[in-house]
Amino acid sequence: MLTRAVILAGGKGTRLASRLNGLPKPLVEVAGVPLLERQLLHCKAAGIRSALVLVNHLADRIAGFCRAKNNFGLDLSLADDGEPRGTAGAVLAALPLLTADEDLLIVYGDTLFNVDLERFYAAHARCGADASLFLHPNDHPRDSDLVGLNEENFIVRFLPYPHPPGAEYPNLVNAALYIVRRAALEPRRGLGEGPPRAVDFVKELFPAMLEAGQKLYGYISPEYVKDIGTPERLDAAEADMASGRFAGGTLKVARRAVFLDRDGTLNEDRGYISRPEQLTLLPGAARAVRRLNRAGLPAVLVTNQPVLARGECTEDELRAVHARLEHLLGLEGAYLDRIYYCPHHPDKGFAGERPELKIACACRKPGIGMLRRAAADMRIDLARSWLVGDRTADIQCARNAGARSILVGAGTAGEDRACDAVPDFRAENLKGAVDIILAAEGMV
Ligand SMILES: [Zn+2]
Repeated sequence: MLTRAVILAGGKGTRLASRLNGLPKPLVEVAGVPLLERQLLHCKAAGIRSALVLVNHLADRIAGFCRAKNNFGLDLSLADDGEPRGTAGAVLAALPLLTADEDLLIVYGDTLFNVDLERFYAAHARCGADASLFLHPNDHPRDSDLVGLNEENFIVRFLPYPHPPGAEYPNLVNAALYIVRRAALEPRRGLGEGPPRAVDFVKELFPAMLEAGQKLYGYISPEYVKDIGTPERLDAAEADMASGRFAGGTLKVARRAVFLDRDGTLNEDRGYISRPEQLTLLPGAARAVRRLNRAGLPAVLVTNQPVLARGECTEDELRAVHARLEHLLGLEGAYLDRIYYCPHHPDKGFAGERPELKIACACRKPGIGMLRRAAADMRIDLARSWLVGDRTADIQCARNAGARSILVGAGTAGEDRACDAVPDFRAENLKGAVDIILAAEGMV
């Protein structure tokens, strides 16, 4: 069980100065409640009993605030963060204060979050990771610190900003919320020793752990985690509170989603794609996805990729194709919340095929295996969700899952005669489909 949170609350909040009225940044009010109070109460509700708040700038004000609130009923202590030790340096220096704990939740002092922490911890514990990083896609991956995962969602590389020109990376951004096994930090303490200097989690500690063969898990989640360190972000967070997007941000609450087919819906259908350069977005597709993003409706890709079973494309090549897709969307401020693909195909007898993938599976559309997986991963209520695609298999898949369907594409759309299902709606393209969805959801 996760018992201890460490909150990095030493920051000066220079960028937020106009909203602080002399307060330390962790005490900035978000919709009337100081951020530190929100963080501590959220942790407490998840069963966390102890918190160590690492402070520096205006430390007395933070101490006074916690005392006045009776420490929120927590076993709460404050310690100096040893500025300029940096985020990781501060935690490494504080390890002697944390000997009773097995795992630590690390929270940055300017992060507003609504996360099912018990679920996050269960994933961390289940995979036996030394550290688990909360990851999500964002609308500006080009200037974000990204990570690369393997098939089991363990981190295999860090891709810090700035990225090399022309690089096409998956859109997985470190949201700066971690669970770390305390004992796994002990061998790394050398990083924080010597004359005080800034040691950063992303730039130094996590890469050093990876280098040393420690296991870093990527916990991908659609939940609400935002940094509110500028006036614009603070305003956006308060708007999210007013709209219910913050309250509905946790995986404790089920959500609607929009499932999207790939070829012919998002990108041009040019037969089978096995290389990134073959993928071109359809006009207006990125803008349509961005509207879903901004409405807070998860956009989830579900695509049949029998090219894998036929041996025409490897998993690595498909990953590169999807990295390009995410890159192109990211250039226009759009992102997919998650990508699912079916690698199978039922018919045997092709040269070069991979027999282990030549099976009748439950995930190939119109099967609903991918939707079921997404529903479990992201707590999606399929009956309140949508599927947009250009084939009858998409429409039948939506019908099989109890979701609403929109057939897109002019001309040959839906003429494939593979399935009989009739779509709930038709639209010329993804933009038209998103118009229908947002109108039906009362989001326009
Ligand atoms: Zn399958």
